[in-house]
Amino acid sequence: MKSILSKVSLVVIVFGFYAVSGQTLLMPERVFDGETMHEGWVVLVEGNRITYAGAPAGLQEITGTSKIALPDMTLMPGIIEGHSHLLLHPYNETSWNDQVLKESSAERAIRGAVHANKSLMAGITTMRDLGAEGAGYTDVYLKKTIDEGIIPGPRLLVAGPAIVATGAYGPKGFHDGVTVPLGAETASGIDEVIKTVRRQLGNGANFIKVYADYRWTPGAASEPTFLPQELEAMVATASSAGSYVVAHASTPEGMRRAIMAGVETIEHGDGGTSEIFQLMKENGVALCPTLAAGDAIEQYRGWDKEKEEATDRIKAKKRSFSLALKSGVTIVFGGDVGVFAHGENYREMDLMVSYGMNPLDVLKAATSVNASVFHLDKAGKVKKDFLADLIAVKGDPSKDIGVMKEVGFVMKDGKIYKHSE
Ligand SMILES: [Zn+2]
Repeated sequence: MKSILSKVSLVVIVFGFYAVSGQTLLMPERVFDGETMHEGWVVLVEGNRITYAGAPAGLQEITGTSKIALPDMTLMPGIIEGHSHLLLHPYNETSWNDQVLKESSAERAIRGAVHANKSLMAGITTMRDLGAEGAGYTDVYLKKTIDEGIIPGPRLLVAGPAIVATGAYGPKGFHDGVTVPLGAETASGIDEVIKTVRRQLGNGANFIKVYADYRWTPGAASEPTFLPQELEAMVATASSAGSYVVAHASTPEGMRRAIMAGVETIEHGDGGTSEIFQLMKENGVALCPTLAAGDAIEQYRGWDKEKEEATDRIKAKKRSFSLALKSGVTIVFGGDVGVFAHGENYREMDLMVSYGMNPLDVLKAATSVNASVFHLDKAGKVKKDFLADLIAVKGDPSKDIGVMKEVGFVMKDGKIYKHSE
């Protein structure tokens, strides 16, 4: 067994992944099936599907099966990252403005390919990418090259360029005679927002991301951007085309307009009040809190997390997140990774727990809940007929969420991409 496993690791290193033929029986210490923890379960994989998950006794006699022992490990569904930017890298390396203004789409695509691999190695088998941030449809092409097996990476759901109100997005800080490339596509008026939604969907966006509020000038507070009618027109256009809209919003009014217009998720939601979270719950709108983005940005601004007390922004975010938890609104796992390093997606899980969420609920959010919010009906669970997107970590993440930092086994679509002992 030992020698077979080392051979697997070697192949993974040399060729990127190890294609399993026939049946593979995974034998971990326990299985988190996306909802609950089961001691002693085994999982059988055939092709790219799970064909059995349960107690070994329930398994029919099988032959020609390769067995992979995962001692002391918890096997679970691959993580579904709910808010990423594969085309961004940490702002303490290069500011967002400089990434948009100085890095070509070609450079950003190459970086994106590296980020996609890092994400997969961190156990992210699916990612909802929330906007190419000035790189056009590069996210659509990244998705295509991953799907075609050219580069390793998670399954992607992509937003394309995203939509902002005219005048309401950056890079900012130039006089009015200077034309700069923007981090998203602008639109104003009913006709134009309808046209923009259609164009983006036609160019390969899986869903539409809209900025329901933003700062109008550098350093100013966020204010609502689109009129309710414009948001409603975008939602109607997307849903008539079989798609949906998600909204960046952090002000109560921006959030309220987006909720009432019928978006499916609110991104960030920093200024959410009990009343707004209640409205989200009543309307079936989920919250993607992106705790790790704020935590990273405050550190980039000089906050020494280990030595200093929380900044006002962090304190406010903790308060609004606890209001969200109390309200019972559905919470999506999504950290806005790209603002911080790709592959460090676990940072959002750590913060969700330290801001008051139960570890098992965090694991659910990152698997079965995200799958259901993102319309992925065969992902996010360890269950018969579901996709063989499986990862394993040492120890029990429902007792110590910190173990999610070291993902030791990654299978996507039935292929093993990582197996370290
Ligand atoms: Zn984002």
